[in-house]
Amino acid sequence: MTAKIIDGKALASRIRSSLKNDIQKLSREKGYLPGLAVILVGKDPASQIYVRNKEKACKEIGIESRVIYMEENISQDELLREINTLNNDKSIHGILVQLPLPSHIDEDAVISAIDPMKDVDGFHPVTTGKLFVGQMGFEPCTPKGIITLIKETGQDITGKHAVVIGRSNIVGKPVAIMLLRENATVTICHSKTKKLKEISKNADILVVAMGRPESIDDGYIKEGAIVIDVGTTRVDGKLKGDVVFDKAVHKAGWITPVPGGVGPMTITMLLKNTILAAYGNE
Ligand code: NAP
Repeated sequence: MTAKIIDGKALASRIRSSLKNDIQKLSREKGYLPGLAVILVGKDPASQIYVRNKEKACKEIGIESRVIYMEENISQDELLREINTLNNDKSIHGILVQLPLPSHIDEDAVISAIDPMKDVDGFHPVTTGKLFVGQMGFEPCTPKGIITLIKETGQDITGKHAVVIGRSNIVGKPVAIMLLRENATVTICHSKTKKLKEISKNADILVVAMGRPESIDDGYIKEGAIVIDVGTTRVDGKLKGDVVFDKAVHKAGWITPVPGGVGPMTITMLLKNTILAAYGNE
């Protein structure tokens, strides 16, 4: 068996075209464009690339993006003041603080300072609380992209056994909650899980978000499963997923590649959330 490739790049491109139309409609009907502010503290090369990619994606579809560069040594108070200014700026509908932050700044305090109505990354405790209790709110971008990719297979999630490897606040936990909401039976695994192979071999849907390059091979995969590889680790200059693609592709029914799977979907869901925020914050 050879798995069907779930092409995140192509899907993201289709969704972005339709988002472009949504923005034109918003502009025609309401007379303004969605605005996204991205704060980058310091000069971390990877963060600079992520911020540039977000800026480029915004421009391509007509979202007004504003990048605020701050020095590595700024104080937490200065950063909080900037967030407060953006919270009160009517032309800004979404605010994102690029992580990680320098170690002298408390990330939780910074995320909590963002107005939940502008929390397009979906990391604010109010947003995550809403997700947990099933209320409407922004869904975090990577998990939202993962669910969209799974639905792209055309398979019904209801009743499926979904195994999520990883329990981070930005991927593992929220995606598990979202799979539960889609009526999957969900198992969450982590570094202390015993018999990981046996558990993951039972998964109809396997979401791997460990950050351990090429550690999940075909021995962990059930024949015909949907495999979503979230991992992105640079090894010798090349981006590697957590799944051994060349082996898994002969066992899975559907699989996402790295790159070209989850990555393009994450930015697309950020764009989508920013448009939702612009509709909500008239
Ligand atoms: P993280 O915060 O480091 O969490 C990794 C999780 O994997 C932890 O829960 C950890 O368990 C678990 N884990 C580590 N080694 C394990 C093992 N041997 N067996 C079972 N579980 C293990 O990472 P993250 O932020 O969730 O990101 C995960 C990966 O996704 C990274 O490669 C990251 O770059 C990538 N990512 C990609 C995107 C995208 O848009 N493509 C977005 C976000 C993240 P413990 O909790 O027990 O430590």
